[in-house]
Amino acid sequence: MQSQATIQSKLPNVGTTIFTVIGQLAARHDAINLSQGAPNFPCSPQLVELVAKAMREGHNQYSPMAGVLALREAVAAKVETLYGTRYDPASEVTIMASASEGLFSAVTALVHRGDEVIFFEPSFDSYAPMIELQGARPVPLKLAPPSFDIDWQAVRAAITPRTRMILLNSPHNPTGRILSDADIAALKDIVRGTDIIILSDEVYEHVTFDGAIHHSMSRHPELAERSVVVASFGKTFHVTGWRIGHCLAPAALMDEIRKVHQFAVFAADTPMQHALAEFMADPGHYLGLSDFYQRKRDLLAAYLKESRLELLPSHGGFFITARYDAIRDEPDSDFVQRLIRDHGVATIPVSAFYSDGTDHRLIRLSFAKDDDTLKRGAARLCEL
Ligand code: GLN
Repeated sequence: MQSQATIQSKLPNVGTTIFTVIGQLAARHDAINLSQGAPNFPCSPQLVELVAKAMREGHNQYSPMAGVLALREAVAAKVETLYGTRYDPASEVTIMASASEGLFSAVTALVHRGDEVIFFEPSFDSYAPMIELQGARPVPLKLAPPSFDIDWQAVRAAITPRTRMILLNSPHNPTGRILSDADIAALKDIVRGTDIIILSDEVYEHVTFDGAIHHSMSRHPELAERSVVVASFGKTFHVTGWRIGHCLAPAALMDEIRKVHQFAVFAADTPMQHALAEFMADPGHYLGLSDFYQRKRDLLAAYLKESRLELLPSHGGFFITARYDAIRDEPDSDFVQRLIRDHGVATIPVSAFYSDGTDHRLIRLSFAKDDDTLKRGAARLCEL
């Protein structure tokens, strides 16, 4: 249909997200899909039963704006046990219609026109656009392979009187890097005495490898008091399609975030919240996740041993990155398209995680897949 209306794009440089583009291409070529960070195996049947039960019991209308209280209480209890900080379920925990909505509502509520937000690239592709939509300036600081370590000197140098927020993500998508003790010490030093807010994307909080701990901002009181922590039930319980997450923040920050959340979505899905509240009573449902995914990371690495890909370290999350320069000398997006078209296996080009398209000639592989998919995907990659 033709529209006569003249529109001015708010995001003139943004196209369709890479996850949709690659997903569609993969489907067209019937490729084995190691691209999206979403499980292709089922969630617990008990969880499905609990949703059905909640629906049968009539939990089918709006939940409270901030979320079902039992779920907020379950989250607060978990966070206090694991990380030591007590968040008040009434005023400091909000159930969000996805972690993405949590991030978006937090940025919308707390970042003003003309503010600057520091974050680290490669980054999840929603960060820069959600900052730009506020009329604020994204300040991406680059991380480089193989370690993708944060240069805290560069962070210090990037801070100006307009710096409103530092956006962190650990375990990190796409690199699998996790925050260390030294990172936390440096971060504390940098924000001490400032008004900088930390927005911490912790959707892979339960997936850290080789015995490493997850440095939630809520583990560090000095950081927690200026932090918004965003987490995901979808990533933790293999239900990414449910679009349900949560935010933690001190009451004064949460007040502002709820002002946005209430008008963006009002509330998250009700039956899912009742089900998750009951399911979370057993910590075994999330405490085993690191072992579960470490086994998958190692399995994929073992299957790829005979390939000419060079795997970089992954310390947490659903992803591992790989160099392919022994196979071809071409940009990563060309390489990824060739893999889908000619070899029937889908991955994500890491350049998609840099706003200027920096190309380190890396691909991202998701191991959040059943073992057979990992095996068949790896077998195709070994043919290269
Ligand atoms: N977080 C997941 C990933 O990075 C899914 C993202 C998405 O599809 N929007 O792959």
